[in-house]
Parts: sequence; C-alpha cells; structure tokens
Amino acid sequence: MVYETVIGLEIHAELKTKTKIFCSCSTEFGKKPNENTCPICLGIPGTLPVLNEDVIKLAVKAGTALGCKINNYNKMDRKNYFYPDLTKNFQTSQYDIPMCGEGLVKFDFEGKEVKVRINRIHIEEDAGKLVHLEDEPYSLIDYNRCGVPLIEIVTEPDLRSPAEAAEFMRQLKGILEYAEVSDCRMEQGSIRCDANISIRPVGQEEYGTKVEIKNINSFREVQKALEREEKRQRELYQYGEEYKIKQETRRWDAAKAKTLPMRSKEEAHDYRYFPEPDLTPIIIQQEFIDETRANLPEMPAEKRQRFVRDYKIPQKDASIIIANKTLAHFYEDTVALGVDPKVVDNYILGDMLRLLNKKGLEPEDITMDPKNLAHLIQVIDEGKISKTAGKEVFAEMFDTNKSPDVIIEEKGLAQISSSDELEKLVDEVLKNNPQSIEDFKAGKKQAAGYLMGQVMKASKGQANPQIAKKMIDDKLAILV
Ligand SMILES: [Zn+2]
Repeated sequence: MVYETVIGLEIHAELKTKTKIFCSCSTEFGKKPNENTCPICLGIPGTLPVLNEDVIKLAVKAGTALGCKINNYNKMDRKNYFYPDLTKNFQTSQYDIPMCGEGLVKFDFEGKEVKVRINRIHIEEDAGKLVHLEDEPYSLIDYNRCGVPLIEIVTEPDLRSPAEAAEFMRQLKGILEYAEVSDCRMEQGSIRCDANISIRPVGQEEYGTKVEIKNINSFREVQKALEREEKRQRELYQYGEEYKIKQETRRWDAAKAKTLPMRSKEEAHDYRYFPEPDLTPIIIQQEFIDETRANLPEMPAEKRQRFVRDYKIPQKDASIIIANKTLAHFYEDTVALGVDPKVVDNYILGDMLRLLNKKGLEPEDITMDPKNLAHLIQVIDEGKISKTAGKEVFAEMFDTNKSPDVIIEEKGLAQISSSDELEKLVDEVLKNNPQSIEDFKAGKKQAAGYLMGQVMKASKGQANPQIAKKMIDDKLAILV
C-alpha cells in the first residue's frame, strides 16, 4: 500500500507593537526578568484589560497579506487552563469568531505549485517563560513575555512532506516580514510553530490519527521533527501497528532528535471557552480593511516577479535574494546607483553570502554601504583594479565598510595600466625567458600564454591583462 503524509501547521507570530496587548508595558526583548510587567499583565484580581488598537491594525494587515477574509465582527474569549507562566489561569484569545477567516498561500516547491489554505488567524496574548535552572531544585518565572500580542495562524492540512512544510514556514515568514507585522526572529522566539502530522493510504479521503508536535523553534527543526515523526508513523503503518498511533501531543527534543509523548490531546471543551466579559466585541469597518489591503507593501511573490522582469536575473537568484528583506533592500539600493544588476547579483550570491555564512552572520548584520559596492563594481569596470583584487577589496569592505578607493590605496591593489611601466615588465620577462621565445618561433603558440603568466607573476597580479597580452603578442610578432 502506498501512503501519504498529511501536515498542518499552527504558527504563532509576535506582533510588532511597542506595548503589550492589554496594558502599556513595553514589549522590548532582552530586558531584565519581570522588568516589563504591571498589575494587568500579571493578572492581579481587579485589574481590567484595554485592547491595544495596533494589535487590530497589524492582525488585519497580516490577514490581508495572507489573502484572508476579515471578520467585521469578532470577539475575544477566555481559554481556561492552569499554567504557572499565565497567572490569570486563562488566556485571552479568540474562539468561535476569529479576526480573520479563510485565506490562501501559494508557492513553488520542487517544480510544482503548492497551495496551502489558511483556516483562520486569531489574536491572543502570549504567556511568560519558565526558567529551569540546571543545579537548583526550583524554577523561575519571567513574566516579561506575558501579554505580548500574538497572531495564531492555522493552516488546513494541505502540506504533503516535511520539506514542503519547512518551505511554507519560510514563505510565511517572508510575507509577515514584508507586511511589517512581525520581526519573525526565530532565535528570539517571535515566531514559533506547532505541527500536526498523520499518515493515510493514498486515495483515502479521511485523515489518519494525527499527532501534534510542539516546541519547534527553527526551520531546520521543523523539517527534522516532522521527518522523525513521519518515519515513526510510517513504520507503524507498514507493520500493521497503526492502531498504536494515538491522538496526542508530543514534544520535539532537539538534543535527542526525537519526539516524546507529552500529554493526550485536549479537545476544545477541555478549555471551557467563554466570551471575555471584560472586553467589548471588536467591530472593524470595511473601509479600514479595504484601505489596509490597498496599501499593503509589495509581497515577496510580486517582488520576485519584478526582479526577474526588470533586472533580468534568474528566478532562482531572485528567490534567494528576496527570501531576506534586508538582502533584497541591499540589492535594490546598489542597483539603483546605476551598476549592472547581474554583477550585483553575482556579488550577493557569491562573496556576500559566503562571508555571511563563514562568519555566522545574518543579512541583518551587513554594515557595507551599497554605495561602496556600486563604486567597487565601477572601478573594476574601468580597469583600475582586477577582478581578483576586487574580491580582496570586497572582503575588506565587508569587515570595515571602508570605501574601495581607500582600500585599493592601502593595499596597493591598483592595476598597472601605464604603457611605460608595463613595457618595462614585459621586456624584463622576455629577456629572462629566451627558451620560451625560441619555442614560440618554433611554432609552440602556448609559449605566449606562459610569458603572460610570468608578466602577471612579476607584477604580483596587478598588470592590466588586456594591455599586457597585446604588448606580448606585438613583441613576439616582430621577433618571428
Ligand atoms: Zn503590563
């Protein structure tokens, strides 16, 4: 029997607001534990929440960017559960009427178009963080994250492989970043993912028993965790043991590279949802939704098309550049200075990504000024320095953001183009290699190439190759 994998994702993304969802505490990351707290986000009895307007604006923006219907009327609900990092004993979320309804994300993956339907997007508050000290018999709680606004994006089970799921996460991150609704910094936990995965025989309509995997916090881990769980379930199916797959929540243990049982899956009624009595329903004017949709920034798919069309670079290159917003801006800013888009593309996909990778940096860490890259391309074009020397200048610019002129001067990289200087070098080389001249006279044309190599060597790579080559050819022609 042939089986297929069915995957759906639930993605939590922190919204880029200055303050929390129900109080005026800062959302800034990296503060001292419990510095960003007040009686409201600590859930002290008697306090009342006030919904932050920016949360609505950003959630509507996210919804329109993901092609969702926006519900003009929606409301907040209480999701009741006890957990030490949520002092209220309930999470204020949305249950039966979320802010955004059905949407659709399309992308190309391994030569085919993948369509992932969005089931809903709702707004809610984040919980705090438990800190387990390794050698102490207790845990600490940091409530700074408590009340940071989140959107939860729930997809339909439309993904068919772990690699496809990881690619969807990348696409989604791009859309949220370009729409400027979330920073999506996975290492800071501002975008997190839970995944549902099940197996079913190909052709069967009904889904198999699904398992939810929690605690995944990087794209690589999304794929690894799903691959591991997929293997576990497929093996059980293969040997007729599929009844052992229980509907449960499993935790991804990145260190052990395994999914481990966490708890049996709760049903909605376990949470005893009820409408939040302290907040009024949210009414969103259609005019506001239309305006948001009309003013949406350029999305990654449109940008990719425009890069291919206007800059004539391959689709594959464009996809790599636009995958990161900072990189895309750097590319466009450089091209805007009037240099060849294809050459800029080569520098970014070549030296730039290689150096970022080597130094363990992200494109957000680039300090190089696009003006300096444009100028470097220009001086190579004018023959002031060789392409090889250009690589050295680029590496130095990457570290110091100095102007190419300064680096060329400091490192003495300027190409020798002056005829007098070059002629001296060429004559010297001819004088020292009489055998090569004899070889050339005897018809061994490759001797000219050898002499050229000697000139480059004598000039430490700084001889202008076109001029030097012509000079050698001319001199040899006279000798024959
Ligand atoms: Zn607060």
